[in-house]
Amino acid sequence: MAIQKRKRYASVLEKECVACGTCILVCPKLAITVPRGIYAEVNTDLCIGCGLCKKACPASVIEMITNLAEEEINKNEKERMV
Ligand code: SF4
Ligand code: SF4
Repeated sequence: MAIQKRKRYASVLEKECVACGTCILVCPKLAITVPRGIYAEVNTDLCIGCGLCKKACPASVIEMITNLAEEEINKNEKERMV
């Protein structure tokens, strides 16, 4: 039986990010990095969707995503692996 679970996570508009690092400082799960100093990236496996980074971003380039379908796909993949 498939379990439907919503996943909420942060997503950075990469082209608009100014790589200031503010989001890194506020994230309680250490889910954000700025690889190569170009733009921030969110590790969606670590992100708990708290929204603190979105509130803190001075450039307002973080949006919150709620994804149900992706979780269903992952669940189905896990079931196939059992
Ligand atoms: S706080 Fe905003 S502008 Fe600064 S690195 Fe994070 S996403 Fe980019
Ligand atoms: S939503 Fe919360 S946990 Fe996710 S990246 Fe932003 S601050 Fe970190």
